Amino acid sequence: MSKVKSSETVKVVVRCRPLNRKEAAGVTGTPGGKGGIVEMDVHRGQVVLRNPRALPSEPQKTFTFDSVYDASSKQRDLYDETVRPLIHSVLDGFNGTIFAYGQTGTGKTYTMQGAWLEPERRGVIPNAFEHVFTQISRSAADRQYLVRASYLEIYREEIRDLLDPNVHAPHVPNVHTQPPHTLELRESPESGVYVRDLTSCVCKSVKEIEELMNVGNQVRSVGATDMNEHSSRSHTLFLITVECSQTGPDGRQHIRVGRLNLVDLAGSERQAKTGVHGERLKEAAKINLSLSALGNVISALADGRSGHVPYRDSKLTRLLQDSLGGNAKTVMVATLGPAPQHYEETLTTLRYANRAKNIKNQPRVNEDPKDALLREFQKEIARLRAQLSHREGRGKHRKEEGCDGEGDEEGEEEVEKERKLQEERLEEEKEAIREDGSLLAVEKQRLLGEKEIMMGDLRKERDTTEQLTAKYKAMESKLLVGGRNIMDHTNEQQKTLEKRRQEIAEQSRREREILQQVMVQDEETLELRETFSSLQQEVEAKTKKLKKLYAKLQSVKAEIQDVNDEHVRGRQELEQTQNDLTRELRFKYLITENFIPPEEKNKIMNRLTYDPEEDQWKFQLLPPSESQMKKRLASAVGYKRPISQYARVALAMGAHSRYRVGE
Ligand code: ADP
Ligand code: MG
Repeated sequence: MSKVKSSETVKVVVRCRPLNRKEAAGVTGTPGGKGGIVEMDVHRGQVVLRNPRALPSEPQKTFTFDSVYDASSKQRDLYDETVRPLIHSVLDGFNGTIFAYGQTGTGKTYTMQGAWLEPERRGVIPNAFEHVFTQISRSAADRQYLVRASYLEIYREEIRDLLDPNVHAPHVPNVHTQPPHTLELRESPESGVYVRDLTSCVCKSVKEIEELMNVGNQVRSVGATDMNEHSSRSHTLFLITVECSQTGPDGRQHIRVGRLNLVDLAGSERQAKTGVHGERLKEAAKINLSLSALGNVISALADGRSGHVPYRDSKLTRLLQDSLGGNAKTVMVATLGPAPQHYEETLTTLRYANRAKNIKNQPRVNEDPKDALLREFQKEIARLRAQLSHREGRGKHRKEEGCDGEGDEEGEEEVEKERKLQEERLEEEKEAIREDGSLLAVEKQRLLGEKEIMMGDLRKERDTTEQLTAKYKAMESKLLVGGRNIMDHTNEQQKTLEKRRQEIAEQSRREREILQQVMVQDEETLELRETFSSLQQEVEAKTKKLKKLYAKLQSVKAEIQDVNDEHVRGRQELEQTQNDLTRELRFKYLITENFIPPEEKNKIMNRLTYDPEEDQWKFQLLPPSESQMKKRLASAVGYKRPISQYARVALAMGAHSRYRVGE
């Protein structure tokens, strides 16, 4: 039983945006083209794609998905049905990923982010923020949570930290002109693939995490001259880590860590590469490297037969290694545009989405990982608390000694009051010493000095305690405790409403599943159920079936042809790139062979090594040779360092000879 549970496929949903004004004008011009080329059957989860150039007799292409969202769908529909269950899993300690895939302008960013200021049009990310913190505030009071966020972008195969504090100057706008640092990927058996030195910020509320997102988006837009162009060429990943500690049945604290990747990919369309040379060519080759690698990874995983999955081909695929075929729960939202002129792209998107359905993951809860930050926080808080109570204890002890202790109330206030009292008492004692005529002046001074030192100690102690308390409070406020911390403004009615909506979403999902199953079974069992009363009837039924199968055969044939064409096109493009690169290489050869002296060339060649981790050639540092090591000048006898004639004279003359005042 557990085996069935431990493996699940990537959930794939498709969303089609409405026609925009420009497209609508174009589409109504084409006969029968009302509403574009995409039709959706929301109940069955089916998409039918119409080829605008095909003959009416040609079969239409039909795809089935976990759910489909047509142009009239609301952000909330997608969230409640598809994303909500994933967030719950993350809070339970699973890793989860949602990524939007599709051509530029089909609504990836709209789906992931949407319009933040309009509640109806808020996308997956703002809704997920809200959801995570609300869920924490409603959870049982014995749970402690720590929420962290990171934000990065992959641009031209470089990973950039969008929350890097060195790049961002929060109070001085327009200061962060330099692009963010590029970071490296690392892999460890404990935590899988991760980005080294990626900034991660602890968040206590929705407001704080939204603020982080804004900060990151600013850095992103500063780095890009044309935001639209930039966003269609860069992938962004917002990572939320939720650590939760709870007392287990064994009476010990257990920590579960869930990571949520929210990914907005670059546009999946092919970038035009023709007629570019040199740096531009290399850049063009890199821009969509991640996306084509993603395609290859999806194909390899969906195929199931190929042993090698090319995760290492790009940064994106390495980062998503857990999400595709790994231990995460994954949702892919494929976005489509309904305009006829993008038929090819839409078909490609649907094919990828269709393939991704077959990817199997093995989600598992991350229990008690060694690197849980929450554990460290708890330890540190406990340490600070112990220190504080130790101090409190000491204060109280003194108090009891001093003024015969009145009651044993606890708390900082009490300690603070006590300290004030002690100070006042010292002050009084000092005053008494000053006024005491029987003491000698020296004696008075000594006693006063002693009291002064005692006062100083008292103050120092107070400062340390204050610092400790502040640190303790700051750390404790970062831990979110279930059932409080965050004000839950939602009243019961709203909660019920939310629950209802969830139930409805779940219901319609189940209905769709059943419908899809029925469709499959219908095809298989049609024949079995039929009993024929006459030969004539049998012939009719079989003819009908034959027709159906024939149509199916035709569509499969067309599909094969399409895939072949696509393959050929892809290969031609690759060949073209290869030719261009070879030409570039020959050019470089020509220069090196003819204009660089062979011995220099050899020297350079011998020093170069290839770093596969970073996919770069690197210069080895030269070991300092004998001749290069400058001999240190011998110092004059009796001196540590070599010394000039002038300095020696000056020294001999004693003081500075120059500024000597004449007599
Ligand atoms: P992408 O990120 O895929 O390049 P965008 O999310 O920027 O595309 O969407 C392009 C445009 O289409 C935006 O103006 C967006 O508001 C609009 N849009 C996308 N999806 C929808 C939708 N489902 N409903 C309404 N408008 C949408
Ligand atoms: Mg976008």
